[in-house]
Amino acid sequence: MSRLLVIGCGGVAGVAIHKCCQNSKVFEEICIASRTKAKCDALMEKLQGKTKTKITTAQVDADKKEEVTALIRAYQPDAVLNVALPYQDLTIMDACLECKVDYIDTANYEPEDTDDPTWRAIYEKRCEEKGFTAYFDYSWQWAYEERFKEAGITGLLGTGFDPGVTSVFVAYAKKHYFDEITTIDILDCNGGDHGYPFATNFNPEINLREVSANGSYWEDGHWIETKPMEIKREYDFPEVGKKDMYLLHHEEIEALGRNFPEVKRIRFFMTFGQSYLTHMKCLENVGMLSTSPINFDGKEIVPIQFLKALLPDPASLGPRTVGKTNIGCIFTGKKDGKEKTLYIYNVCDHQECYKEVESQAISYTTGVPAMIGAALVCSKVWKKPGVFTTDEFDPDPYMELLNEFGLPWVVEENPVLVP
Ligand code: NDP
Repeated sequence: MSRLLVIGCGGVAGVAIHKCCQNSKVFEEICIASRTKAKCDALMEKLQGKTKTKITTAQVDADKKEEVTALIRAYQPDAVLNVALPYQDLTIMDACLECKVDYIDTANYEPEDTDDPTWRAIYEKRCEEKGFTAYFDYSWQWAYEERFKEAGITGLLGTGFDPGVTSVFVAYAKKHYFDEITTIDILDCNGGDHGYPFATNFNPEINLREVSANGSYWEDGHWIETKPMEIKREYDFPEVGKKDMYLLHHEEIEALGRNFPEVKRIRFFMTFGQSYLTHMKCLENVGMLSTSPINFDGKEIVPIQFLKALLPDPASLGPRTVGKTNIGCIFTGKKDGKEKTLYIYNVCDHQECYKEVESQAISYTTGVPAMIGAALVCSKVWKKPGVFTTDEFDPDPYMELLNEFGLPWVVEENPVLVP
């Protein structure tokens, strides 16, 4: 029986909290804390009476370590689940360290202000050393390893779908199907249609920063960087059909490259329709994706934040999105000296998700694994001192909980490979 502090109350948090309430044998009590307390109260009202989990709410600005520390001291949770934004990762980790409480999140740290000179200097050195230019990377959070070990607490990083489940699929494939994995292709397909000319399925700022950046993949122990959307493939996804997909830089590649050094190549592809790409290019060309503040009519605004205010709230896409997602990993490698190929994937239906938790499948496929990661840490199944990604634990209990909590997976032998 555990007490969980959830920070953030957006699209992903909404699903994670619904799922915690379905898992009241682990989560006896949760506190929903976010910048806008009214959203936490509204969610609490919706869930109360339908769950045995006791829910409370709080206001917190998670950019301020002291506020998070004070909240942890007052609430005394067993763990903190960070489903706010990646900008808050480090302040929340600092607070967890100070209070010696386990930490769980779904996305790599990245800075909100990419012009900040201190951050910029570290970033430029990292680009030179590592050879990829994405704003997010694990170095900031891996730097907590020793301090988490000394404090005896667990940091579980990136327990969404990708990263998160995709890395568990890798650990599972290695444990049960391969002696040696040679290549991994992670394929993220959203075959859903929300009917808007342009909208993003999760936080627009984080989403657009990610997909407009250079791509990169891991090959023979180093990074190969590409221009944004330079590498395109078509794939016929089970239960979704043929889609164009593009190679992106993605955070799990970095952790998998480190933790599975025998793997020769790791790539990540995401599907995009032509209309999405045309809108994004146009917005980029006119400067709307910029994170640098500009002065407008005497007021300072950040263009991408202004754009976020104009775009549909991802949480509002649920009722209108139809279709399915298919996210998974294709492996090549060897078992008992023989060449082998395998595909592990999950298919998720947007409307089914909406019926269950009033959310579309992108938030659902992230929020369920966020709850599962928190449940495994809280019940001490995935508990060791230090900072870890999801491929560094026994995958079996996580895979079982995916089946139990709405993300069943399929193992397919001899799939079509991505050229
Ligand atoms: P939303 O924008 O919908 O929600 C973010 C929430 O965080 C909001 O409730 C917001 O509050 C709150 N918040 C923002 N800043 C602060 C702050 N300083 N203090 C306290 N609360 C704050 O985002 P999503 O739910 O779409 O995404 C949540 C996380 O999930 C992100 O980190 C994203 O990168 C990650 N993600 C991971 C995926 C994966 O597969 N691993 C896939 C998709 C997303 P307010 O309501 O006031 O704005």
